[in-house]
Amino acid sequence: MIEINNVSKSFGSLEVLKGIDLKVEKGEVLSVIGASGSGKSTLLYCINALEPIQGGEIRVDGIDVHGAKTDVNKLRRHIGMVFQQWNSFPHMTTLENVALAPRIVLGKTKAEAREIAARQLDHVGLGDKLDTYPTNMSGGQQQRLAIARALAMEPDYMLFDEVTSALDPELVGEVLDTLKMLSEEGMTMILVTHEIPFARDVSDRVAFFRQGVIEEIGPPSQVIGDPTSEHTKQFLSNVR
Ligand code: ADP
Ligand code: MG
Repeated sequence: MIEINNVSKSFGSLEVLKGIDLKVEKGEVLSVIGASGSGKSTLLYCINALEPIQGGEIRVDGIDVHGAKTDVNKLRRHIGMVFQQWNSFPHMTTLENVALAPRIVLGKTKAEAREIAARQLDHVGLGDKLDTYPTNMSGGQQQRLAIARALAMEPDYMLFDEVTSALDPELVGEVLDTLKMLSEEGMTMILVTHEIPFARDVSDRVAFFRQGVIEEIGPPSQVIGDPTSEHTKQFLSNVR
């Protein structure tokens, strides 16, 4: 479980997260929506200890993420993260890209790491691209490669930050299908997205962020289907 208790985060004098409280249970899919600059990405970075926090506490499976004694590298093995921009190694095949972390970080043998990589690539529908170089693939395929790389660490949690935002429209669907598959397999996920119909379809809960606070949170039928906050209504009417 991910527990976020009264978390505040600033960049200099700019307060970006203002007392966030949020729990994500095992197996839950939480979508985070909200305008650009509302603090969505920052929250994900704080969960993964890529950013320090100034107040409150984040616990992942009971471990204090920002605790002085916490082994953040060990923690991050349990939390996969995929960003908007794919960042695979261009000089390695897809198989080599995915096998890298199991080999280096998990200490698997070369054969084991390749076996894991082939399995995860097959899982995201790239089973016929094992020897392809990322630069020879579409943006949608490269994002699925990035997802396979994260899955190869067998994470307990996945954080997705606008993974379809940089894609041509015709490539969005294949990546969303992959996310949906993961949700159906029971993966615990936090999904920052502007794909509102998708969020409605796939999420257990939706959180609407506004200026560093959670303005509204609840099941998609409420937050997207029948929002109570005027700000949520306005945001949804703008993105639709
Ligand atoms: P979102 O993902 O919702 O668009 P972000 O979490 O990226 O929002 O950003 C929230 C606010 O924090 C924005 O005003 C942004 O400019 C600011 N910010 C984000 N990262 C940094 C940083 N590394 N240094 C200074 N300001 C930052
Ligand atoms: Mg962002």
